[in-house]
Amino acid sequence: MKTIDLHQTVWQQLLARRARLPHALLLCGQQGIGKFDLAVAFAASLLCERLPVTGEACGQCLACGWLAQGNHPDLRLLQPQALAPTADDAGEGEDAKGTKKPSQQITIDQVRALDDFLHVGTHRHGARVLLLNPAEAMNRATANALLKSLEEPIVSTLFILVSSNPNRLLPTIRSRCQTVSVPLPPRAIAVAWLRDAGVAEPDDWLALAAGAPLLALALSSSGERTVLEALLAEVSSGAGVDPLAAAARLERVVKADKRPAPLKRLLEWAQKWLFDLNLATEALPPRYFLRQAELLQELAQGTDRLRLLAFNRKALQYKAQCDQPLNSRLFLEDFFLGYARVFQSA
Ligand SMILES: [Zn+2]
Repeated sequence: MKTIDLHQTVWQQLLARRARLPHALLLCGQQGIGKFDLAVAFAASLLCERLPVTGEACGQCLACGWLAQGNHPDLRLLQPQALAPTADDAGEGEDAKGTKKPSQQITIDQVRALDDFLHVGTHRHGARVLLLNPAEAMNRATANALLKSLEEPIVSTLFILVSSNPNRLLPTIRSRCQTVSVPLPPRAIAVAWLRDAGVAEPDDWLALAAGAPLLALALSSSGERTVLEALLAEVSSGAGVDPLAAAARLERVVKADKRPAPLKRLLEWAQKWLFDLNLATEALPPRYFLRQAELLQELAQGTDRLRLLAFNRKALQYKAQCDQPLNSRLFLEDFFLGYARVFQSA
């Protein structure tokens, strides 16, 4: 199954716009649902030179060949350097050796470099497409530089902005785009899509990813599993958790994790766990941890609700703090001491 199979309604809406393309589209929706793939598929459809009946790019013409190789002259992708696959990715992982970290932002230089692309005729006398992903990765100066291009419509040129967080875009940018909301795909289709992609236990991963199938796929096949399982091993003990030992074990997991912001990701999972525990105290089924539904109900029996609510609020602060480098052991100890108190009656 392809990503557009997850979003047939939106896909048909996009195809319907082919005849009279707006100047700029803003695809927005939750993280990890496939907005970018959808944008790429639409760009490919516009650039394909066989005018496919189905609306999908044929995959065989010259233009499709260039697209597949990533060098179609009438398509430009603007994304943070950190998202770009690079040749030396294999050797990456440690950035402590003085090498410059790839930018998390779309830079003003990337936007300025568009001038040549936008102001010569198209190479294939067809459409010209510019993808920005994620659009919120532009700071104000960069967004203002882009605004100049957005303000003067250019013949046969379509800007497609992709965003999981459109509120972070400048209102002037938003107002120049036609917004296309991409909803969460229907659960049954998302589960079938995950199964097709080879994910075992697709329901569980989909729940952990709050219904976003591409995120679920990424989680299921990444080191995230290690982080998640390590956390679950500790929080599952409820009142029996040993805060200091749990902190020591999780600190090792966090340190071994070479992907960005491991402590923050751990805290995000912990927050989701607390969310489900909170639901369980109201005898509601979990939203994220489907497999632990029974355990959550059991733990909820021994939970002091007021303390849980207070700890939930505290967990939000933890997440805000863990952006800063700090002593992760002390931080985790504090977290688990607080977690243990949730199970002590006042
Ligand atoms: Zn084609």
